[in-house]
Amino acid sequence: MSCTKCKKCNKKAVTYLKAYRIALCESCYSEFYLKLVKRCIKKYGIFRKNEKIVAAVSGGKDSSAMTVALKKIGYNVDLIYVDLGIGSYSKKSEKCVEELSELIDSNLNIIRLSDYGFKIDQIKGKTCSACGVSKRYLMNKFAREQGYDVIATGHTAEDIVSFYIKNLAGGSKVWAEKLLPRNEPFDPKVVARAKPLYEISEKENMLFVLCNTIPFNPDDCPYAPKPEWKEIVYEIERKKPGFTKNFVRGLVREGKFPETRYCKICGEVSSSEVCSFCKLRRRFGCV
Ligand code: SF4
Ligand code: ZN
Repeated sequence: MSCTKCKKCNKKAVTYLKAYRIALCESCYSEFYLKLVKRCIKKYGIFRKNEKIVAAVSGGKDSSAMTVALKKIGYNVDLIYVDLGIGSYSKKSEKCVEELSELIDSNLNIIRLSDYGFKIDQIKGKTCSACGVSKRYLMNKFAREQGYDVIATGHTAEDIVSFYIKNLAGGSKVWAEKLLPRNEPFDPKVVARAKPLYEISEKENMLFVLCNTIPFNPDDCPYAPKPEWKEIVYEIERKKPGFTKNFVRGLVREGKFPETRYCKICGEVSSSEVCSFCKLRRRFGCV
């Protein structure tokens, strides 16, 4: 790799993208990446005209890359970070998102789960599921109350494909909203969600944050499960470069929304009488 030249400017290449069969230097890579994100946004109608966008940031490389890319492409985005109360991991992540918001001069909104009566560190068992419920709930509520039209999340092509394969292999329902590049609100209480990195890979995000010295927390969450399904996706990608992108491109839209109900405790949209977030709070005697 040391003697490979950038295909665009002939400078020393920092990467060779197998899926595109192209070697690029640092600055040409960043331009290339921004074009990929821009194309993805256009292709899938990720954003509508003049939408007020809030970017969900975790401090990780993917959401940090997404936020800087959106800003560079010309979108005006505010940031939302949920402090989940996961020991030093949350503290470090918060520091990263603060630096990120300074770097791109965006408003940063921080919501603390502890203000709702508990922390993720107190959850016993099925931590990620409780964490996911909490993040979705708090972000949706905040975005709606603050008048945002859409929440942008940093889901990558690997997230989509591994989710699909895992469900397929587990014999459960494969189609889920989570697989789509954009989810329209199925109720006035729900804010649209969109994935500007739908076709973008984790490696591409990592290179972009490194080439642009974008702050991010490289640590894994202490509760993160072993990424077995992702490893399968990486392995296929290694053998068949372009697999992940082709896979997400091939996913057909088949959205099926559940009947809308409202939580009898807090009034948010829920699939049952009491929403999953209030059930969690009930465990801690908060409602
Ligand atoms: Fe939450 Fe699990 Fe992600 Fe950690 S790995 S932030 S607990 S969803
Ligand atoms: Zn509720």
